[in-house]
Amino acid sequence: MANRRNIYFFHKRSDDIVEKIQHLYDLAERYSFNIVNDYSIANIIVSIGGDGTFLQAVRKTGFRDDCLYAGISTTGNLNMYCDFYLDSTSKMIEAMTSENIEVRRYPTIEIKLDDQPSFYALNELSLRSSVIKTFVVEVFIDELHFETFRGDGIVVATPTGSTAYNKSVNGSIVDPTLPCFQVSELASLNNNTYRTLGSSFILGPDRKLTLKLMQESKDYPTIGMDNEAMSIRNIKNIEVSLSGKAIKTVKLKDNSFWEKVRRTFL
Ligand code: NAP
Ligand code: MN
Repeated sequence: MANRRNIYFFHKRSDDIVEKIQHLYDLAERYSFNIVNDYSIANIIVSIGGDGTFLQAVRKTGFRDDCLYAGISTTGNLNMYCDFYLDSTSKMIEAMTSENIEVRRYPTIEIKLDDQPSFYALNELSLRSSVIKTFVVEVFIDELHFETFRGDGIVVATPTGSTAYNKSVNGSIVDPTLPCFQVSELASLNNNTYRTLGSSFILGPDRKLTLKLMQESKDYPTIGMDNEAMSIRNIKNIEVSLSGKAIKTVKLKDNSFWEKVRRTFL
């Protein structure tokens, strides 16, 4: 059983952070957790920072679906992916000592860029023009040619990503208990030549979204996954589907997704 208590802390290594979080290391030791430096053998991966840090923690540790992730907020605000506050350890102790902790599963999307191995995203895939001009994308749902998009970009968000970029472009907030993903437009051109749906749409778990980039010049749109820009260029085909990998986090009392939404936005 001992190796099920391997814990890995993900945070900036700057001196001020290390000093501020020393009590977490002490706490983990006091409750007989084994602090590891290699995340691949960790059973619990703890991100210390904000939502952006949590996204990085998941990305840098390879979207593992066989371990538990936990977010500890250092920002003072409550964040969507952070269930714990840095300075209030009672909730952490409760989670560390309880026999049956409830687990939440956050859907992620799988992204295929041409023939490359799959990428994953916890918030979203974003496609944005990297120049002042628009770009053109042929949008397919499964094998159906759905629309021809011309504009600034497209955002494909997971349910937990629905409160991030997706929300800023008027997408809906989606309950993470629904396995689905949402497609939203960034400033689409609509005229007699180009016509898009104009509203966000949500695809079910067995759908595949294909975005075919129509290259009109040497400029390529920027491909973003969560808070990272991909350096890959010259991509023609992007396929997005719901992935089989869910990100597991600890479920706490009084901290449901909708409580967080109310707390953050209302
Ligand atoms: P950032 O530019 O610092 O983040 C923007 C804000 O989004 C931060 O306040 C961040 O919270 C928050 N955030 C991140 N994920 C969220 C979520 N699932 N629900 C609600 N808020 C969320 O960059 P970042 O912190 O690395 O976050 C990356 C995310 O920023 C991207 O995945 C994208 O969703 C979002 N983004 C938004 C826009 C926009 O709204 N116009 C444009 C680009 C990117 P913290 O302060 O706790 O980190
Ligand atoms: Mn941030």
